[in-house]
Amino acid sequence: MSRALILMYHSVDTPLNEAESRYCVTPAVFREHMAHLAASGSVAMPLATMVQALKQGGQLPDNAVAVTFDDGFECFQRNALPVLTEFHIPATVFAVSGMLGGTNTWMQAKGWPERKLMNAHELREIQAAGVTVGCHALNHKPMTQLSDEALADETVNARRILSEALETDVTLFAYPHGAQSGRERQAVEKAGFIAACGTEPGFNRHQTDLFALRRIDVYGSDTLASFRRKLQFGANRATLADLANYYFRRIATHFHG
Ligand SMILES: [Zn+2]
Repeated sequence: MSRALILMYHSVDTPLNEAESRYCVTPAVFREHMAHLAASGSVAMPLATMVQALKQGGQLPDNAVAVTFDDGFECFQRNALPVLTEFHIPATVFAVSGMLGGTNTWMQAKGWPERKLMNAHELREIQAAGVTVGCHALNHKPMTQLSDEALADETVNARRILSEALETDVTLFAYPHGAQSGRERQAVEKAGFIAACGTEPGFNRHQTDLFALRRIDVYGSDTLASFRRKLQFGANRATLADLANYYFRRIATHFHG
């Protein structure tokens, strides 16, 4: 059975303080992850290609993986892109349409350090290098808390502004904070996007809602071993105990038919 996995990164850099260390993967660790992906038999593919295969019920490779980055941090271009290029791994960056060239103000309020977001010129540069740019709404607000009018702004206008800035049709979306329900999924679809990523972990299969795609959160603390377990189990918290359980069940199945 096809199991399509979508990985979610945020910043790829040296963490500036303890608060962001969970969502900031160092360049050295990121390189280890991508080297493993390239060597492990996983099939790294553009998210749009994965979405088309899921939509059409077409054949997906067993170990299909799409790599995504939320927020559009400036460090992507410096630290992640050279590694992705080296290992020929396609990627999608979700940029906040109304904050291009700004900073992560929504995170600073929680004690996280200030980080620059790519401006339109930088996004066009990574696009020219083969990266897909998707939309991460207009202002990075949890969309479930918005009025219908504001929700339309965060989807329709967010898509229009980013498409104009990039001179391309932006078709992929990621919900800020992963916040979504039926109303938000409908709004995103109505705005003309073809698919949207949430933050629920798990594998994506043909029956998965294309407007609630599952993603695995990759943490700054993920060693190569825990990264490998995440790929294997499609879970955010794939511990050694999970691994032991998995093999125990396999052995039990072997003995009991
Ligand atoms: Zn975000």
